[in-house]
Amino acid sequence: MVELKGIPAAPGLATGPAVRWEQKRLEIPRYPISDAAGEKNRLTAARARAAEQLHALKAKVARQAGAEEAAVFEAQAMFLDDSVLVGKAEDAIQSGQNSEAAWLDAVEFFARQLADLTAETLRARAADVRDAGQRVVEILLGVKTQASLVLSEQAVLIAHDLTPSQTATLDASKVLAFCTAEGGPTSHTAILAKALRIPAVVGLSEEILNIADKTLLLVDGIAGSVTAQPDEVSLRAFEVKIREYGAKVARDNELAGQPAVTMDGHRVEIVANVGSLEEARLALQYGAEGIGLLRSEFLFINRERPPSEEEQREAYAAILDTMGTRPVVARTLDVGGDKEVPYYDFGREANPFLGYRAIRISLDHPEDLSTQLRALLRASSGHDLRIMFPMIATLEEIRRAKSLFGEARREIATRELEIASSLQLGMMVEIPAAVLLAEKFAAEVDFFSIGTNDLTQYTMAAERGNKRLSHLNDPCHPAVLRQIERVTQAAHQAGIWVGVCGEMAGDLDAIPVLLGLGVDELSMAAGFISAAKQVIRRWALADAQAAANLALDLDTADAVRQAMRSCRK
Ligand code: PEP
Ligand code: MG
Repeated sequence: MVELKGIPAAPGLATGPAVRWEQKRLEIPRYPISDAAGEKNRLTAARARAAEQLHALKAKVARQAGAEEAAVFEAQAMFLDDSVLVGKAEDAIQSGQNSEAAWLDAVEFFARQLADLTAETLRARAADVRDAGQRVVEILLGVKTQASLVLSEQAVLIAHDLTPSQTATLDASKVLAFCTAEGGPTSHTAILAKALRIPAVVGLSEEILNIADKTLLLVDGIAGSVTAQPDEVSLRAFEVKIREYGAKVARDNELAGQPAVTMDGHRVEIVANVGSLEEARLALQYGAEGIGLLRSEFLFINRERPPSEEEQREAYAAILDTMGTRPVVARTLDVGGDKEVPYYDFGREANPFLGYRAIRISLDHPEDLSTQLRALLRASSGHDLRIMFPMIATLEEIRRAKSLFGEARREIATRELEIASSLQLGMMVEIPAAVLLAEKFAAEVDFFSIGTNDLTQYTMAAERGNKRLSHLNDPCHPAVLRQIERVTQAAHQAGIWVGVCGEMAGDLDAIPVLLGLGVDELSMAAGFISAAKQVIRRWALADAQAAANLALDLDTADAVRQAMRSCRK
């Protein structure tokens, strides 16, 4: 029996035979060429063919797993046209290299630069770059290493890491679980596994690749562990665990549609974080009572220009129509940090997370913010739309954003277009400056939504994507909890509501504390909704308040988590 520890990437338990998926390494021929023009044409044709394949894959994956999952292929296709990359490859061809070698060297140069970056999302892009680059080389060589894996029976898939191209050709119904040597919680494998609801453990190190095909595996996507060749006792115990887990999921799903009310009758609204129309549909299936954070970036990334007012209106209307009269909190554009778009000039920033981001960009391009606000307003008729602004640090920012909203509203009125009868305007509280002046901000808005992902990184001065700092990035730290307490009190004194929309809202240790601190709404990834509702139903508000008071007085995040686990109901 061999036990391996990795990173839990998608919840669930599974047992089954292992199948290893190895990506064959391509042997690249290197030879001098004399017809540089002909060789460049060969590369251009191969890139065009690869882009065609990627667009076809995008359409296929969008149907199967949703637009967000498919967007990666658009990004890959755009990368194939990157002028710096193509220029570098063509220069090498001009100096006498064959196109396969010239292209692969240029791709590898870019991939290495990305792989050296600290932000995990950017590092993950190195795999995308290589994936797209490899596709072109295969076309040039007329070979196919990305052949789809045909699973004859259900199996646990083991791989170094899965590229988008590999997973797109996979018959997901045959995959019991994913286990990869590489990858973090936001890797492509993790995102795909969650979307398909298949358990996954990533970051298992090279050891997982030594496991022979057909070896029986026990995969625990909750604990992040994999057991190979289990003894009889462990196997039986795991089978019982799978049955119990299955029964719990079924129970949770049944209860997911009901509201979350504490034992003493206090209701907390449980809503979803959503980044596409597909996710909005999924959120409803999971029992979301609305959307607490619509990340509008999905409309703006992977393209050359921002979307038009009409394109945005259509996209927002589709999501609002899906949600009916349930509340939908749409956040205006939040790019920057690790999400760059080509149409804004980010310059060179030493600290992008402290740089040109979110509302700072929007107020620098007021015409774009106004376009987004008009599109949202025009989509709002008959719905409960609420709009919020990200990364607010100063009162000037929120006042300026509100004034642009007022202008957009007046403009819609002059066009005699219908909008929702009541519209709320709010802000994200994710910068300590906004916490410290919460009383003043509360007089400006209809609600607060606390973004604990950013609030934690800015409180602890620890970048949220930096793995080496993950011990500092715990929202259960009393320094963060005290800020949530302060914001909640200021909100309630001013008679406005307050939600939490960072990952903390779906964190089972943290939920009772947030309940006790008086948070009115929790917005989380759809997959956490049923479990979150169950936690709230097991608590009385008074007990949660006592637990929150205790947590506020503790010294460390670990102490808070320990205390919460010891009183888990
Ligand atoms: C947050 O910062 O907590 C948040 C919800 O916003 P994002 O994760 O999109 O930055
Ligand atoms: Mg944020």
